[in-house]
Amino acid sequence: MTETTEPLDRVMVIGAHPDDPEFGCAGTVIKWARAGRSITYVLLTSGDKGSRDPGLRPGQLAAMREDEQRAAAEEIGVEQVIFLGYPDGLLENTLDLRRRLCGLLRQHQPHIVMTIDPWRTYQLHPDHRAAGQAALDAIYAAREWYIFPEQLIGDVEPWGVKEAYLFWTGNADYWEDITCCIEARIAALMCHTSQVGENNERLAERIRERSRKTGEEAREKLEEEGYEYAEGFKRFQFR
Ligand SMILES: [Zn+2]
Repeated sequence: MTETTEPLDRVMVIGAHPDDPEFGCAGTVIKWARAGRSITYVLLTSGDKGSRDPGLRPGQLAAMREDEQRAAAEEIGVEQVIFLGYPDGLLENTLDLRRRLCGLLRQHQPHIVMTIDPWRTYQLHPDHRAAGQAALDAIYAAREWYIFPEQLIGDVEPWGVKEAYLFWTGNADYWEDITCCIEARIAALMCHTSQVGENNERLAERIRERSRKTGEEAREKLEEEGYEYAEGFKRFQFR
Protein backbone atom coordinates (compact mmCIF):
# COMPACT_ATOMS: atom_id res chain seq x y z
CA MET A 1 0.00 0.00 0.00
CA THR A 2 1.36 3.40 -0.90
CA GLU A 3 1.85 5.62 2.09
CA THR A 4 0.72 9.19 1.79
CA THR A 5 3.36 11.90 1.61
CA GLU A 6 0.98 14.70 2.52
CA PRO A 7 0.82 15.97 6.09
CA LEU A 8 -2.13 14.57 8.00
CA ASP A 9 -2.26 17.17 10.73
CA ARG A 10 -5.95 17.58 11.41
CA VAL A 11 -8.04 14.80 12.91
CA MET A 12 -11.80 14.67 13.52
CA VAL A 13 -13.25 11.98 15.79
CA ILE A 14 -16.97 11.40 15.22
CA GLY A 15 -18.81 9.39 17.89
CA ALA A 16 -22.41 8.78 18.88
CA HIS A 17 -22.02 9.42 22.63
CA PRO A 18 -19.70 11.08 25.09
CA ASP A 19 -17.26 8.27 26.04
CA ASP A 20 -17.26 6.60 22.57
CA PRO A 21 -13.85 8.15 21.71
CA GLU A 22 -12.41 7.12 25.09
CA PHE A 23 -13.72 3.57 24.79
CA GLY A 24 -12.83 3.31 21.11
CA CYS A 25 -9.66 5.09 20.08
CA ALA A 26 -8.28 7.37 22.82
CA GLY A 27 -4.84 5.75 23.00
CA THR A 28 -4.22 6.59 19.37
CA VAL A 29 -5.70 10.07 19.78
CA ILE A 30 -3.41 10.81 22.74
CA LYS A 31 -0.39 9.61 20.79
CA TRP A 32 -1.31 11.70 17.75
CA ALA A 33 -2.05 14.80 19.88
CA ARG A 34 1.37 14.44 21.50
CA ALA A 35 2.88 14.22 18.03
CA GLY A 36 1.34 17.60 17.21
CA ARG A 37 -1.82 16.64 15.39
CA SER A 38 -4.81 18.88 16.05
CA ILE A 39 -7.85 16.94 17.24
CA THR A 40 -11.54 17.87 17.07
CA TYR A 41 -14.26 15.75 18.67
CA VAL A 42 -17.80 15.67 17.27
CA LEU A 43 -20.38 13.93 19.46
CA LEU A 44 -23.71 13.42 17.78
CA THR A 45 -25.72 12.96 21.00
CA SER A 46 -24.96 14.00 24.55
CA GLY A 47 -25.76 10.56 25.95
CA ASP A 48 -28.88 11.80 27.70
CA LYS A 49 -30.38 8.31 28.11
CA GLY A 50 -27.29 6.72 29.63
CA SER A 51 -28.63 6.29 33.15
CA ARG A 52 -31.27 4.20 34.90
CA ASP A 53 -31.59 6.68 37.76
CA PRO A 54 -35.22 7.92 37.62
CA GLY A 55 -34.23 11.02 39.64
CA LEU A 56 -31.87 12.18 36.91
CA ARG A 57 -33.58 14.01 34.06
CA PRO A 58 -32.20 13.63 30.53
CA GLY A 59 -31.24 17.32 30.38
CA GLN A 60 -29.24 17.08 33.61
CA LEU A 61 -27.56 13.90 32.47
CA ALA A 62 -26.68 15.47 29.09
CA ALA A 63 -25.04 18.44 30.84
CA MET A 64 -23.11 16.11 33.14
CA ARG A 65 -21.93 13.92 30.29
CA GLU A 66 -20.86 16.92 28.20
CA ASP A 67 -18.76 18.09 31.16
CA GLU A 68 -17.23 14.62 31.51
CA GLN A 69 -16.48 14.56 27.79
CA ARG A 70 -14.80 17.99 27.95
CA ALA A 71 -12.70 16.84 30.92
CA ALA A 72 -11.60 13.70 29.06
CA ALA A 73 -10.85 15.74 25.95
CA GLU A 74 -8.70 18.11 27.98
CA GLU A 75 -6.70 15.20 29.42
CA ILE A 76 -6.14 13.92 25.91
CA GLY A 77 -5.17 17.22 24.34
CA VAL A 78 -8.24 17.63 22.12
CA GLU A 79 -8.59 21.20 20.88
CA GLN A 80 -12.32 21.40 20.33
CA VAL A 81 -15.39 19.40 21.36
CA ILE A 82 -18.59 19.85 19.35
CA PHE A 83 -21.96 18.43 20.47
CA LEU A 84 -24.70 18.19 17.84
CA GLY A 85 -27.42 17.38 20.38
CA TYR A 86 -29.32 14.62 18.58
CA PRO A 87 -31.42 12.46 20.94
CA ASP A 88 -29.54 9.58 22.50
CA GLY A 89 -30.79 6.12 21.55
CA LEU A 90 -32.77 7.43 18.58
CA LEU A 91 -29.96 8.49 16.23
CA GLU A 92 -30.63 7.97 12.54
CA ASN A 93 -28.44 8.48 9.51
CA THR A 94 -30.72 11.14 8.05
CA LEU A 95 -29.92 13.62 5.29
CA ASP A 96 -30.03 16.35 7.94
CA LEU A 97 -27.28 14.65 9.97
CA ARG A 98 -25.24 13.94 6.84
CA ARG A 99 -25.57 17.59 5.78
CA ARG A 100 -24.40 18.86 9.17
CA LEU A 101 -21.41 16.51 9.26
CA CYS A 102 -20.56 17.39 5.67
CA GLY A 103 -20.63 21.08 6.64
CA LEU A 104 -18.29 20.41 9.59
CA LEU A 105 -15.87 18.50 7.36
CA ARG A 106 -15.81 21.35 4.84
CA GLN A 107 -15.34 23.90 7.60
CA HIS A 108 -12.69 22.10 9.70
CA GLN A 109 -10.98 20.29 6.82
CA PRO A 110 -9.71 17.23 8.72
CA HIS A 111 -7.20 15.03 6.91
CA ILE A 112 -8.21 12.08 9.07
CA VAL A 113 -11.63 11.02 10.36
CA MET A 114 -11.97 8.40 13.09
CA THR A 115 -15.39 6.85 13.63
CA ILE A 116 -17.28 3.69 14.56
CA ASP A 117 -17.31 0.70 12.19
CA PRO A 118 -21.03 0.56 11.27
CA TRP A 119 -20.60 -2.85 9.63
CA ARG A 120 -19.16 -4.74 12.57
CA THR A 121 -21.03 -8.01 12.77
CA TYR A 122 -23.65 -7.78 15.50
CA GLN A 123 -23.11 -4.11 16.20
CA LEU A 124 -26.36 -3.92 18.13
CA HIS A 125 -26.39 -0.30 19.21
CA PRO A 126 -28.44 1.63 16.63
CA ASP A 127 -26.65 4.91 17.46
CA HIS A 128 -23.26 3.32 16.82
CA ARG A 129 -24.39 2.00 13.44
CA ALA A 130 -25.97 5.33 12.49
CA ALA A 131 -22.98 7.41 13.62
CA GLY A 132 -20.43 5.42 11.63
CA GLN A 133 -22.61 5.34 8.56
CA ALA A 134 -23.38 9.08 8.70
CA ALA A 135 -19.70 9.97 9.15
CA LEU A 136 -18.67 7.90 6.14
CA ASP A 137 -21.53 9.22 4.01
CA ALA A 138 -20.53 12.77 4.97
CA ILE A 139 -16.94 12.10 3.87
CA TYR A 140 -18.30 11.09 0.48
CA ALA A 141 -20.58 14.13 0.27
CA ALA A 142 -17.94 16.66 1.40
CA ARG A 143 -15.72 16.08 -1.62
CA GLU A 144 -18.48 16.59 -4.19
CA TRP A 145 -19.30 19.96 -5.75
CA TYR A 146 -22.96 19.20 -6.29
CA ILE A 147 -23.87 17.63 -2.96
CA PHE A 148 -25.10 20.25 -0.47
CA PRO A 149 -23.83 23.02 -2.79
CA GLU A 150 -25.52 25.63 -0.59
CA GLN A 151 -22.59 25.15 1.83
CA LEU A 152 -20.09 26.25 -0.80
CA ILE A 153 -20.19 29.98 -0.19
CA GLY A 154 -17.37 32.38 0.61
CA ASP A 155 -14.18 30.43 1.27
CA VAL A 156 -15.92 27.09 1.77
CA GLU A 157 -14.92 24.50 -0.82
CA PRO A 158 -15.41 20.76 -1.21
CA TRP A 159 -13.06 18.87 1.09
CA GLY A 160 -11.48 15.49 0.52
CA VAL A 161 -10.68 13.61 3.73
CA LYS A 162 -7.49 11.58 3.16
CA GLU A 163 -7.92 8.73 5.61
CA ALA A 164 -10.68 7.16 7.72
CA TYR A 165 -10.04 4.89 10.71
CA LEU A 166 -12.94 2.77 11.96
CA PHE A 167 -12.79 1.65 15.57
CA TRP A 168 -14.75 -1.21 17.22
CA THR A 169 -14.12 -3.18 14.06
CA GLY A 170 -13.96 -6.89 13.34
CA ASN A 171 -11.75 -6.24 10.32
CA ALA A 172 -8.72 -4.36 11.61
CA ASP A 173 -5.95 -3.85 9.07
CA TYR A 174 -4.08 -1.06 10.87
CA TRP A 175 -2.69 -1.11 14.38
CA GLU A 176 -1.35 1.74 16.44
CA ASP A 177 1.17 1.03 19.19
CA ILE A 178 -0.29 2.72 22.30
CA THR A 179 2.22 1.38 24.82
CA CYS A 180 3.27 4.99 25.48
CA CYS A 181 -0.26 6.07 26.28
CA ILE A 182 -2.12 3.18 27.90
CA GLU A 183 -2.35 4.72 31.38
CA ALA A 184 -3.28 8.15 29.99
CA ARG A 185 -5.94 6.42 27.90
CA ILE A 186 -7.39 4.79 31.02
CA ALA A 187 -7.25 8.09 32.94
CA ALA A 188 -9.22 9.80 30.15
CA LEU A 189 -11.86 7.06 30.19
CA MET A 190 -12.20 7.46 33.95
CA CYS A 191 -13.38 11.06 33.43
CA HIS A 192 -16.75 9.56 32.45
CA THR A 193 -17.70 8.96 36.06
CA SER A 194 -21.46 8.75 35.36
CA GLN A 195 -20.77 5.78 33.10
CA VAL A 196 -17.80 3.98 34.66
CA GLY A 197 -18.07 4.92 38.36
CA GLU A 198 -15.19 5.97 40.61
CA ASN A 199 -11.79 4.27 40.54
CA ASN A 200 -12.98 1.38 38.41
CA GLU A 201 -9.88 -0.81 38.57
CA ARG A 202 -11.70 -3.77 37.00
CA LEU A 203 -12.47 -1.71 33.91
CA ALA A 204 -8.88 -0.41 33.81
CA GLU A 205 -7.61 -4.00 33.85
CA ARG A 206 -10.09 -4.96 31.12
CA ILE A 207 -8.77 -2.14 28.91
CA ARG A 208 -5.15 -3.23 29.53
CA GLU A 209 -6.08 -6.84 28.76
CA ARG A 210 -7.94 -5.95 25.56
CA SER A 211 -5.13 -3.66 24.39
CA ARG A 212 -2.59 -6.43 25.08
CA LYS A 213 -4.67 -8.85 22.98
CA THR A 214 -4.85 -6.29 20.16
CA GLY A 215 -1.07 -5.94 20.43
CA GLU A 216 -0.74 -9.70 19.94
CA GLU A 217 -3.17 -9.59 17.02
CA ALA A 218 -0.94 -6.98 15.42
CA ARG A 219 2.03 -9.32 15.88
CA GLU A 220 0.21 -12.19 14.13
CA LYS A 221 -1.21 -10.13 11.29
CA LEU A 222 1.81 -7.95 10.61
CA GLU A 223 4.29 -10.77 11.22
CA GLU A 224 6.34 -8.24 13.06
CA GLU A 225 7.34 -7.77 16.65
CA GLY A 226 3.92 -6.54 17.68
CA TYR A 227 3.21 -4.13 20.47
CA GLU A 228 2.67 -4.51 24.18
CA TYR A 229 -0.54 -2.47 23.91
CA ALA A 230 -2.31 -1.54 20.68
CA GLU A 231 -5.55 -0.30 19.15
CA GLY A 232 -6.82 -1.80 15.88
CA PHE A 233 -8.66 -0.04 13.08
CA LYS A 234 -10.09 -0.68 9.64
CA ARG A 235 -8.36 2.00 7.59
CA PHE A 236 -9.40 3.59 4.33
CA GLN A 237 -7.06 5.79 2.32
CA PHE A 238 -8.84 7.97 -0.22
CA ARG A 239 -7.09 9.09 -3.36
ZN1 LIG B 1 -21.67 4.78 22.55
